[in-house]
Amino acid sequence: MPTVIALHAHPDDEVLLTGGTLARLAAEGNRVIIAVATDGVVGPADGADGRVRLDELRASAAVLGAARVVHLGYADSGHGPVLYADPPDRTRFARADLGEAAAKLAGLITEEHADLLLSYDPRGGYGHRDHIKVTEHEAEDRHGQREHRPGRAVDRRPGPGSDVAA
Ligand SMILES: [Zn+2]
Repeated sequence: MPTVIALHAHPDDEVLLTGGTLARLAAEGNRVIIAVATDGVVGPADGADGRVRLDELRASAAVLGAARVVHLGYADSGHGPVLYADPPDRTRFARADLGEAAAKLAGLITEEHADLLLSYDPRGGYGHRDHIKVTEHEAEDRHGQREHRPGRAVDRRPGPGSDVAA
């Protein structure tokens, strides 16, 4: 069964930008994975408000037919002239270490034996800093894959992020 990973910046992007495509891919028998870099929350992730957008993403993924949802662990960077300080419990995606973020994506691609990665154009669709960072992230991962040599003894990649549990 072919596996498709849709990499997005925020919860809601999966359905706003690729909902029809993902629903069709799932209906045609592909394993669809939705990965989001951020949880879509600008403030701390504790409490109900910190989970609401991931909860919405899980509900959206169920309707689209996605098999798995993964959050790469970053906070929303916001959209506007000011990039606020990181919340106390996580890093804003705009400040994420590109190698670390790409390694999380690479870990997911490897774990899922993915056949296709969907992402954005170099402007991130409409210029949001998290969307642009997703394209850099994806490009860094492709570079890392090219550099990967078969037979390498030590895999130093971090885990692929956290599944968004039901
Ligand atoms: Zn977005």
